[in-house]
Amino acid sequence: MLATSLSPSFLAACLPLGFFNLGEVFRRDVESSSHLLQFNQLDLVILGKKESISSAFLFSFLKTFFLEVFGINEQKIVFRRSYFPFTRPSFEVDLKCFCGENLFSSHPLRQKRCSFCKGTGFIEVAGCGMIRDVVFKKVGFNQPFREELSAIAVGLGIERVLSFVLKLQDIRLFYSSPPLDSN
Ligand SMILES: [Zn+2]
Repeated sequence: MLATSLSPSFLAACLPLGFFNLGEVFRRDVESSSHLLQFNQLDLVILGKKESISSAFLFSFLKTFFLEVFGINEQKIVFRRSYFPFTRPSFEVDLKCFCGENLFSSHPLRQKRCSFCKGTGFIEVAGCGMIRDVVFKKVGFNQPFREELSAIAVGLGIERVLSFVLKLQDIRLFYSSPPLDSN
């Protein structure tokens, strides 16, 4: 075969292929019990053949990931449709808050609205989806390769997940000393 470039054919030989990136990110936001202006984000991408990498694979992978890495059972995980520019379809990953907030809850925190989930009962911890074909095009993958290729992408806030695991009602406790006003 006379290849016009090496990278797609090299990648094709390596599929499925996954990589991750962990680093600090900065947001223009209002700091609160559930928001930090600076936090650690884990990005994950898995590339593979179209027949094996799908939304079903994404859900199954994330359920296994949350269980194996953080000990979070799949019953605590909710996928919600969302929008991100680089993925389609896109989803938010919510965890059912440790306060047990719901109409039938008798948990003590229900009497005083949970400051972490703001009484919604859910904590958003990640965004994810199937990487759009236009992204593959931009990075220079050729048409035949793109037709075979599929990929999932996940961006996850580490401190949010750890707040859930540690049942912290204020994410700012990672970087300050108690007590803090809850809001
Ligand atoms: Zn809560």
